[in-house]
Amino acid sequence: MQEAIATVRRTREIQDRYGLQAKKKFGQNFITEPGVVEKIARSAIDDPSDLVFEIGPGIGALTQFLCEKAQKVVAFEVDPRLPEILQAELGADNLTVILQDFLEAPVEDIIDQFCEPGQKVRFASNLPYYITTPILFRLFESGADIASVTAMMQKEVADRFTAGPGSPDYNALSVITRYRTHVRKVMDVSRQVFSPRPNVDSAVVRFDFIKDHPVRDEKLFIDMVKACFVQRRKTISNNLRQWLQDKELAAKILEKAGIDPAARAQNLDLETFIRLYEENYEDIR
Ligand code: SAM
Repeated sequence: MQEAIATVRRTREIQDRYGLQAKKKFGQNFITEPGVVEKIARSAIDDPSDLVFEIGPGIGALTQFLCEKAQKVVAFEVDPRLPEILQAELGADNLTVILQDFLEAPVEDIIDQFCEPGQKVRFASNLPYYITTPILFRLFESGADIASVTAMMQKEVADRFTAGPGSPDYNALSVITRYRTHVRKVMDVSRQVFSPRPNVDSAVVRFDFIKDHPVRDEKLFIDMVKACFVQRRKTISNNLRQWLQDKELAAKILEKAGIDPAARAQNLDLETFIRLYEENYEDIR
């Protein structure tokens, strides 16, 4: 591999060569520590035959390692200045750059276009912080056959995605994430290794998608989970009463699922939410 792009010197050199200022509106913070990008790439890719999609390649810090480890990399970038720089600096013949806002891209069609039979689809990204949650939910809710997503995000957001029951960070997002994926934190990353330096630290999280979803009418299940957390300090009974607009029904469904009406949603695990929903589906749908 040629010299790593993810160093302070190379990043400055590339920016100077192309007169490229980082744009805040695109959430541009480039990684300048090769050990970090190497570890993201290693954690994201299980096999060289994997088809890897990157969101926001920037000037190629992570892309370089992804192209090194995988047969094919397809990167979505919104900044029109970058595709040319990426091709010129990386010169990787296994890289395709798509100039498009990822949130508007027909992701399923693009996956179909590149994926060969038997190939696993993986996403890897140092995400633009301003749209971390919409991007992840775009992927969680996609109908495409995605195996995993490994993404760097603001540490506080990573804590919410990875929180378990009883943690102050545990919320509806944590439950829905656990419903859709097996989630684990790969590493914490200091704000010191970015240029320009953000005001927050980061963490890398890997999500492995669960193929079989055990509930009927997922949308209603997700609505119920969100409703249970609407007022965090209130009991689950109070929150459900409001959602159902029916005090007796709220008490009945909790009893049927064997849940203490004085419990709070932030102490209940995914299996309990699934039980509450499935055992009462006919009454709440
Ligand atoms: N991957 C590079 C790195 O690690 O140094 C850059 C990461 S930087 C945090 C985020 C990147 O996402 C930038 O290149 C930015 O232009 C790009 N980006 C921002 N919004 C985007 C969007 N909606 N769709 C695709 N890329 C986007």
